[in-house]
Amino acid sequence: MLAELIPKIAGMEAKEREEDVYRPRPSCSGPEKCLRQLCYWSQGYAGKPFSDRFYLTLDDSSWHEELTADWIRKSVFRLHSTQMGIDIAEFGFMPPEPKWHCKVCKKELPGNQFHGHIDAIITDLLEEDRLLEHKAINHFSFQRYLDGEYPLDYLTQCAAYMTGLRNYQIDLRKGNLLIKNKNTSQFLEYLFSYRAETDFLVVEQVTSSIGDGAVGHVIPKGGRKFPGLFRAALKRFEEIEEHRKAKTLPKRQFPLGSWQCDYCRQGKRCWSGYQEEFQAMGEVELDEASAEVVKAYDEISLWCRKLGQQKESLSESIKEILRTRDAKRGLAPGFVAVLDLRSRSYLDSQLIPEEIREKAKRESKFEVLNVRRLKAAGEAKTNQKEAQTYAN
Ligand code: SF4
Repeated sequence: MLAELIPKIAGMEAKEREEDVYRPRPSCSGPEKCLRQLCYWSQGYAGKPFSDRFYLTLDDSSWHEELTADWIRKSVFRLHSTQMGIDIAEFGFMPPEPKWHCKVCKKELPGNQFHGHIDAIITDLLEEDRLLEHKAINHFSFQRYLDGEYPLDYLTQCAAYMTGLRNYQIDLRKGNLLIKNKNTSQFLEYLFSYRAETDFLVVEQVTSSIGDGAVGHVIPKGGRKFPGLFRAALKRFEEIEEHRKAKTLPKRQFPLGSWQCDYCRQGKRCWSGYQEEFQAMGEVELDEASAEVVKAYDEISLWCRKLGQQKESLSESIKEILRTRDAKRGLAPGFVAVLDLRSRSYLDSQLIPEEIREKAKRESKFEVLNVRRLKAAGEAKTNQKEAQTYAN
């Protein structure tokens, strides 16, 4: 009863206050956000509606931020300036009209105003201020960052806030990007410094709440440097504006079948004409570096094939050895070979009525790569012919 009701209420409430209008925002300034998706949005293409559950997860994230703020208030840090609105920059490539209304700041802003809200500022016992940016994310994304990937979108957002805060004579040089795993309540914290004059962000330390041993980041001496994040963000927004005016789209940022495209609200529209595009694609002469990659792939594939065959043949031999001894476990010095009896269930499609089978059918496209050796160099004509036959 409530399990069904709660997401519906969350969905209804969110849709009432939702404002699905594109505007350059700090949260979409990073390089990992699909540029093409932002272009669709800026050109008013409606995306697949969000599920009710999605709004619940957004709401959860805000509450996680509150919970973390509560813990910080119990520490020696002073937490203030929460959700402070800041004007970061004025875009020269956008008109100041029409104006837009910021619901948080309750004021009208020019159409070309890059505006955002910081999570908070924290002040330590030595009266040093730091920007605090909090993110509550799922386990899958958290694990990627814990394993060593840098959260470029979040760092870019921080660079935008640090730049904007200078307009208020708030001379911040340091910040904390605090990421919470919503599933396990673990934290990952990036301590960074930023120089707005040169747009230079340096991650000085990455700390995990479960010990530094768990962190996959190796910070070089002097910190991990990220120059030009804010400049790159401005350039992307300008590009979006150019595409909007010309009613064009950039290339797809992610490949077919990527998780980004699978989750994308524009996925269906974005890939709808791909079959025709694919058919129209031609052939290129690869440069030396790319040819090396193809060669390496071919060699590794050959090893894998050979090793796979050897593995299969050894597996059959071991099974035969155990079978002839009526045993399911074979002990050898340092090893045990175990034969398990398992079952798997499957649907016999012949027993399913035709109309149900048809209804349940789904098609998804994917790309398959094949690398095959052509004849030796010097036989260019034969090679071309063979490549053509292969392409057909
Ligand atoms: S489907 Fe993929 S490439 Fe297309 S807009 Fe979405 S994320 Fe970008």
